[in-house]
Amino acid sequence: MTINAIRVSQTGGAEELKYQSVEIGEPEAGEAKVRHVAVGVNFIDVYFRTGLYKAEKLPFTPGNEGAGIVVAVGEGVTNVKIGDRVAYVGSPGSYADERIVPADRLVIVPDEVDLKQAAGMMLKGMTAQYLLRQTFKVQAGTTILFHAAAGGVGLIAGQWAKYLGATVIGTAGSEEKANLARAHGFDHVINYNTENFVDRVKEITNGAGVDVVYDSVGKDTYMGSLDVLKFRGMLVSFGQSSGSVPPFDLGLLSQKGSLFVTRPTLFHYIAKREELEQTAQDLFDVVAKGVVKININQTYALKDARQAHEDLEGRKTTGGTILIP
Ligand code: NDP
Repeated sequence: MTINAIRVSQTGGAEELKYQSVEIGEPEAGEAKVRHVAVGVNFIDVYFRTGLYKAEKLPFTPGNEGAGIVVAVGEGVTNVKIGDRVAYVGSPGSYADERIVPADRLVIVPDEVDLKQAAGMMLKGMTAQYLLRQTFKVQAGTTILFHAAAGGVGLIAGQWAKYLGATVIGTAGSEEKANLARAHGFDHVINYNTENFVDRVKEITNGAGVDVVYDSVGKDTYMGSLDVLKFRGMLVSFGQSSGSVPPFDLGLLSQKGSLFVTRPTLFHYIAKREELEQTAQDLFDVVAKGVVKININQTYALKDARQAHEDLEGRKTTGGTILIP
């Protein structure tokens, strides 16, 4: 059977995202076929497209998140059946009308969550979950700094951290984005293009600094992030939207206050089925309660994936981005 998909046959710029017809087969044992209602666009897709992260082979279909309807199941699959509304993250190959996924990576989407919403929230929302609830346990009295506050992960994390009782400081690249972040849980937002965020965080915290910095910007911010931490604070470096963090001397962590640094990835927090279910459930709960509102602020046709990548990399997007097959 022939379907439409975005294919990358050599790594490089967004122009390498080509809309093509490809053949797909039927699910084998342990697999399910999903007809996508929507596909999530994430910054990690950019890293695979440019070659910063290595795809298993070329050509490949990019994309790590999707939501849709199960249209076929392979032998031995019991956790989903034909007609179920499902979503998944982390099985590369979602930029397509339909695809085959390992069934044990699928979660059932509750009725109150729309499938377009699901496609734009699973990867970003489960990331917010593990960052705030597992990597560093945010609670009442914690002060956090979250970079790229108006981004996909940022808008979810701001609302969730506020709900957990934290003082939430964010950074964003424009006044418009700063205002959006303020409307999504952030108590203070610093425009890091026009202000020195280190000075401003010190001012906001009366010189105390923050307990934890969540930094997905990387090259441009990591040093400042180390500078705003309290003694024994933690830098959670979880992305590199501005470029990779260069190697640095571990002695720096001692000089700057016996700091902790971690470089986590969602996939290691949801590797086991029970971890995936627990993390997804936690996310569905806060969305169902209305604690976290999901903002899908950009929607493109699947064939326009190139434009979606150009806008994401060009810092033109806020909140979540999806593609519609
Ligand atoms: P975002 O919507 O947050 O987009 C990235 C944002 O980063 C931009 O909007 C921009 O916001 C900011 N940014 C700062 N400098 C640059 C730059 N030089 N080029 C482009 N953007 C820049 O993306 P996502 O929500 O998809 O992902 C956020 C980050 O989290 C990414 O780095 C991603 O890789 C990471 N991530 C990591 C995971 C993990 O488990 N480790 C899982 C999920 C995401 P502004 O203009 O306001 O600065």
